[in-house]
Amino acid sequence: MPEQEKLRLRNVSHVYVNDSGASLAVESLDLTIAQGEFVSLVGPSGCGKTTVLHLIAGLLQPTRGEVNMDGKRVTGPSTAVGYMLQQDYLFPWRSIGDNAAIGLEINGKLNAASRQRVGRLLEELELGGTAQRYPHELSGGMRQRVALARTLATEPDIMLLDEPFSALDMHIKLQLEDLVWSTIRGRGQTAVLVTHDLAEAAAMSDRIIVLGRNPGRIRLDLDVPDSLRAILPMEARRHPAFQPLFEQLWAQLDGDTVDVNGNGEESVEGGIRHEDEN
Ligand code: ADP
Ligand code: MG
Repeated sequence: MPEQEKLRLRNVSHVYVNDSGASLAVESLDLTIAQGEFVSLVGPSGCGKTTVLHLIAGLLQPTRGEVNMDGKRVTGPSTAVGYMLQQDYLFPWRSIGDNAAIGLEINGKLNAASRQRVGRLLEELELGGTAQRYPHELSGGMRQRVALARTLATEPDIMLLDEPFSALDMHIKLQLEDLVWSTIRGRGQTAVLVTHDLAEAAAMSDRIIVLGRNPGRIRLDLDVPDSLRAILPMEARRHPAFQPLFEQLWAQLDGDTVDVNGNGEESVEGGIRHEDEN
């Protein structure tokens, strides 16, 4: 894998300011991600994972520090970045084909050729024949595949995935992990996946970053063994190298987290919140 730098966060801090005060969500984070790398961010709820994705996507500007993509500073959203979320956010009144094409439409790039590409993408994602149908006619797994098609349609270099499988049944989730992994690999995209699920991180990633409760503190930056990287997530879960990796991650998080399923909302009274690491 070429070690060309794709993304770089340099001493990035982010403070949210609202009526109830200010809250420090990310503090002095340094992170470099290579072209084509698949990186997972794991850590307790509220530790700043989604904020990091928003900063990479240019949806938020860091309070301090900078985010670079291909050596250039990120100052706003770009079509080079695709974003996939837990919810599919399909428009109920648009057909599947029109939903999948919406990014192209917004970018003014919808034409006969790109529409054909969307059709091929739907087929690739096993959604052939659904283009004329509507979101309510599809299962949750299919809808999430439409969301994936919509994200891929604009051909982004970077895929940001924020818990994209967590609302799905286990069986569908495992299938979708394989599909997402293969499409990202096949396109040579760089990916950053946020997940609660340590097994998912271990099965899908080249590298796993464990964040601590202390905002943006990296507790562990772990390279996944080559033997696991090379195979589909579903196969990785059965590989002998998988369990030791999982346990290594578990040991890191175990002492740290009490609210993996919490909403991460801690009370903020006035000043900047800054928790001590426990
Ligand atoms: P994670 O994705 O790891 O659960 P987030 O990045 O969503 O964490 O949030 C990090 C911290 O920032 C949390 O304490 C959260 O409450 C706070 N936060 C997130 N979004 C906002 C916002 N829009 N306004 C104020 N605080 C926010
Ligand atoms: Mg989040």
